Amino acid sequence: MGPPGAGKGTRATRIADRYGIPAISTGDIFRANVAAATPLGITAKTYMDAGDYVPNEITDAMVRGRLAEPDCVRGFLPDGYPRTVEQVKELDAMLADPAVELDGVLILAVEPEELIQRLLHRAAVEGRADDTDAVIRRRQEIYAEQTAPLAAEYSARGLLAEVDGTGRVDYVTDRIHTEVARLRRRTR
Ligand code: AMP
Repeated sequence: MGPPGAGKGTRATRIADRYGIPAISTGDIFRANVAAATPLGITAKTYMDAGDYVPNEITDAMVRGRLAEPDCVRGFLPDGYPRTVEQVKELDAMLADPAVELDGVLILAVEPEELIQRLLHRAAVEGRADDTDAVIRRRQEIYAEQTAPLAAEYSARGLLAEVDGTGRVDYVTDRIHTEVARLRRRTR
């Protein structure tokens, strides 16, 4: 977890590589569908361009399908899912049968002003359609309203680790690996 611009995608890929599991980025899957103009992509695009979340039913069905693929058997790292209270319930249901235990939930913390600066920079470099000024602010609001509250839920389950996502890249990496190792020791 982490607000837009916290570095979730980069981090998720690195952690997943280290543990030999797939990183499953719902944002990337949506963007691939938008690029290929699939029915899913055409629907998702209107929400994404506005900085809104794609409706739960659509997102949940997509994740359910992805987790059923063979490369997820040994574990997986969802990046950007769940993002709403309903998606937490849905993920719980997906993990109930066959029973899979969550090792933990990592939240990357970055100050709001730095997030905006990072996203404006990404807009200049990558040209993502949802990285315009107004949409960037909208996405931060939606995160604060709908996703930030999930931290309390996972914290109550003893699954949450919050990592400072600012500063030198290798420091952030060290912090993340320490927390991931701690979380995994609890369940293994
Ligand atoms: P991201 O690349 O993770 O920032 O996601 C980009 C966009 O994809 C988000 O702003 C949403 O519009 C959509 N999206 C990604 N993940 C989800 C999710 N779990 N639920 C709803 N919409 C999502």
